[in-house]
Amino acid sequence: MVKLATEVLVIGGGATGAGVAWDASLRGLDVILVDRLDLAEGTSGRFHGLLHSGGRYVVKDAPAARECIAENRILRRVAADCIEDTGGMFVTTPWDDPEYADRFAAACRQTDVDCEEIPVAVALREEPRLNPGISRAFRVPDANMDIWKTVWAMAHGAEQRGARILPYHQVTAIRREGDTVTGALVNDVRGGEELEIEARVTVNATGAWAGQIATMAGIEGVRVFPGRGIMIAMNHRLVNTVINRCQLPTDGDILVPIRTVSVIGTTDQHTEDPDDHTVARSEVDQMLDDGEKLVPGFRQARALRVWTGVRPLFEDAKASDTDTRDVTRAHALLDHRERDSVGGFVTITGGKVTTFRLMAQETVDAVCDMLGSAAACNTATQPLPGSEDGANYRLGERLARKEERLREEQIICECELVSRERLTGVLEQSGSTDLDDIRRRLRLGMGPCQGGFCIYRAVGIMHGAGGLDAPAAGASLSAFLEERWKGVWPILYGDQLRQVRLDEWIFHGVLDVDHLPGGPLAAPAEGGPLAAGSEGGPLAAPAEGDPLAAGPEGDPLAAGQTPSAGFEADS
Ligand SMILES: Cc1cc2nc3c(=O)[nH]c(=O)nc-3n(C[C@H](O)[C@H](O)[C@H](O)COP(=O)(O)OP(=O)(O)OC[C@H]3O[C@@H](n4cnc5c(N)ncnc54)[C@H](O)[C@@H]3O)c2cc1C
Repeated sequence: MVKLATEVLVIGGGATGAGVAWDASLRGLDVILVDRLDLAEGTSGRFHGLLHSGGRYVVKDAPAARECIAENRILRRVAADCIEDTGGMFVTTPWDDPEYADRFAAACRQTDVDCEEIPVAVALREEPRLNPGISRAFRVPDANMDIWKTVWAMAHGAEQRGARILPYHQVTAIRREGDTVTGALVNDVRGGEELEIEARVTVNATGAWAGQIATMAGIEGVRVFPGRGIMIAMNHRLVNTVINRCQLPTDGDILVPIRTVSVIGTTDQHTEDPDDHTVARSEVDQMLDDGEKLVPGFRQARALRVWTGVRPLFEDAKASDTDTRDVTRAHALLDHRERDSVGGFVTITGGKVTTFRLMAQETVDAVCDMLGSAAACNTATQPLPGSEDGANYRLGERLARKEERLREEQIICECELVSRERLTGVLEQSGSTDLDDIRRRLRLGMGPCQGGFCIYRAVGIMHGAGGLDAPAAGASLSAFLEERWKGVWPILYGDQLRQVRLDEWIFHGVLDVDHLPGGPLAAPAEGGPLAAGSEGGPLAAPAEGDPLAAGPEGDPLAAGQTPSAGFEADS
């Protein structure tokens, strides 16, 4: 067993945990961060992409609205390169209560959320695809945020200050000596090693899994109710501004343009299991219908991918029934010294990506208090690595850079403009040969073809560069295709169906992926769609009556699709 020691052990590498690691290392603390998966593979990597202005909460939850707008202003400065300033609009559609608009405008004034009513004609000129039946429109400072860029920037910044960042390290037990938590036992999921990490303070930043980690520490009543929501990425930017319906928050009322796509979301279904990524057919239908209300013709656009995320909704079993603060609080910091008489352990859960920095600040303040450190937080002024010049990300920036070096660079992913040089750079830097890890770093395979054209090139380069032998390359390719398939299957209709058919010809017909060394027939993944080999795999020839055979016409989900029971999906 490998033994490590640190001042602060952070469990969870989502926005919150990475924010804690960044903040703590800026304050000069020694940090180890562990996540059972890759960084931001939990809820953070599955969010809607919206840097909230707070507008969504002004009427329902004023404290949350104030937090959002304050953090929005800070993050635009310190995480500038991760944010695209799209702006946002709240619009009253024919389905919304027209009286809500005045309440909304008044509540924005009370909560300091910048809001300006604009003529409907101006809104429609700026967003020509928007429903022409809207009756009011308000401009707010919404934006989109690239979460992987943000989380990895914080992780690298922390590493530069001596932190140890350990993805694929799962906490299996919490160490306790009497009334004090003293670290954790950790399994290196890929390397197979067991680690014992001794820590003066352990931070539980596991979001929807926080109750599980608290239970490992012998602490009961940290109830985190997972609220599962689906989102669908549509091909192209149907809008260039974040469009919200001007009504009390409900399902399917936000359309976020991010990078080359727009994302409609989301639903909110209670689930018992934070790892439940089921997508119900009715939810997909509901999202497409909701999209129609914002952008008529939405259903005719090409749906690229569906995925789910699980909200960490916290309710403190130890709070009194009359304590409404626990109901309105946007996030919860539990100092287990005070709450449970257990020292050396804090839990931070709930909240939003938009408020992660504040959550991290409050957490590290509590940690410093436990360690007797007076170091002050400076994440509100210290830019993340890569954001030093304070310039926001602009769509078109990558293309402009590529065009300058067209003759020198080889593009391997046309959708996301990823060059061979970037790929080999990330391979070297991350040491990972998992295509899904690489996807999160580079957005490789996340555009309209969903990996159809770039992934075999990437695998070839990884093989050629000596990082992967043939069986490992085949296995990596199969695993990637299997993972991508989960998010495509529930929305197979129209042009995306044609794309999948083309991919099937490329991977199955030309590359014969099922029979590659390390491919699915060599090592079937249990229960996976490729596991069934050429009969049941995603790239298999269509069976009569299934959507691939049914062609692109008709009701998207009626075309022989399946199971009302639901689909499995991921990000
Ligand atoms: C559908 C949906 C849409 C959303 N959209 C938005 C939005 O547009 N804007 C916004 O601001 N917020 C949004 N949110 C909220 C936001 O995504 C979450 O509040 C936020 O991502 C939580 O971050 P986190 O770091 O606390 O948790 P997570 O990102 O879930 O991180 C927790 C980590 O803990 C790890 N972990 C769990 N168990 C263990 C273990 N045993 N050992 C080691 N590691 C472990 C997990 O792998 C995970 O990476 C959305 C949420 C949902 C569900």
